Amino acid sequence: MSLVCQIKEFGEEIGLDVIRITNTQAFPETEKQIIKSIEKGYIPKDNYCNPKYISKTEKQLNLNKISKRCNPKSILKRAKSIISVAQCYLIEEVEDIPDKEQLYGKIAKYDVGNFYYEVKLKLKKIIDFINQETNFKYRSKNKSCYVSLVEKPIAQRAGIGWYGKHGIIITEKFGSWVVLGEIITELELETDKPLQRDCGNCSICIDLCPTKAIVSPYIIDRTRCLQYISERPIKVPLAFREKWGDRLYGCTTCQEVCPRNDKVKLKKYRPKFGYIGSKIPLIPLLTITEEEFQNYFAYNQIAMRTREAIKRNAVLALGDIGDTRAVAPLIKILYEGDSPLVRGHTAWALGKIGGRKAKFALEKVLNIEKDKEVKEEIINALEKF
Ligand code: SF4
Ligand code: SF4
Repeated sequence: MSLVCQIKEFGEEIGLDVIRITNTQAFPETEKQIIKSIEKGYIPKDNYCNPKYISKTEKQLNLNKISKRCNPKSILKRAKSIISVAQCYLIEEVEDIPDKEQLYGKIAKYDVGNFYYEVKLKLKKIIDFINQETNFKYRSKNKSCYVSLVEKPIAQRAGIGWYGKHGIIITEKFGSWVVLGEIITELELETDKPLQRDCGNCSICIDLCPTKAIVSPYIIDRTRCLQYISERPIKVPLAFREKWGDRLYGCTTCQEVCPRNDKVKLKKYRPKFGYIGSKIPLIPLLTITEEEFQNYFAYNQIAMRTREAIKRNAVLALGDIGDTRAVAPLIKILYEGDSPLVRGHTAWALGKIGGRKAKFALEKVLNIEKDKEVKEEIINALEKF
């Protein structure tokens, strides 16, 4: 059996669902597209700025960083092949809600456990396997996260799947419910071909995205995307707060409505790392300390986010759920001096839930609030009564 077949067989044995090979040529079209999206404001400049300049008014775009992400050889100079992999994360969601009295926030399917970490460990095993088979003659690098390389174009060229109009890779058997990963290697392997598939006339995800973030097929305005926003401690525009729903982290609406995802079979297993389940009680998150936050979300991607962003998400979800049991804990946040970002969104949530208690608290706190933006939020919230 050829080495490439052995690698694929081994990868499947250790639980990877799709394994394909591509070459290490650069992705100039992707590079152009990233720059264009930044110029149009669809990708905030900060993502590609030199950190030294981020605080300055004129943010300097780090073109070199973009170019490196689009050039696999920037990771490994003598690389000859990329082993691109996908693992399905659609697992059976256990009804593990211990306390029916709590108000719960939803975790996007890709984050109920840390699937990226699982893939990373599996890629490490593949590298060990290659090293053994080739007597350590070739260097290989494990790149199982989307930060250092553009992994969707790699997966597309390798034939893992094709681009859906929502900008996510769709595989034949597992739809778009997959996390991706890749190994860059000096080993020369026989490559696979891209799949000749597309969405055809379908535009369901474009029509049903709650914030109209899919501005045209394949082009996503990150600043409108709830998944992107939920990861960052930024002010959420009022119109998007109304669309937030019970999300605590992430958004998969465009994947849930996709007909390509209809028939994907659920896996019966519980992720080994960072498992937090698909629903989390929201009110305890309002007062969680940094230490508790790190323990609760240990190994989960949420631990990489700021506590402030997750608290803000919890506040928005409580506002949209609209249950009056959230009023007292939200008032506490308003009085007890959380960050202006969290206080501002809390004022909105209290205005959304409404009621005499919420109104009284907002009026009272308006007189003592010092932050200009929070004051504005309180005034806007009071206008709803
Ligand atoms: S993740 Fe949510 S907000 Fe983002 S494009 Fe998909 S449906 Fe729209
Ligand atoms: S919903 Fe339709 S247009 Fe969107 S990704 Fe799925 S098949 Fe493509």
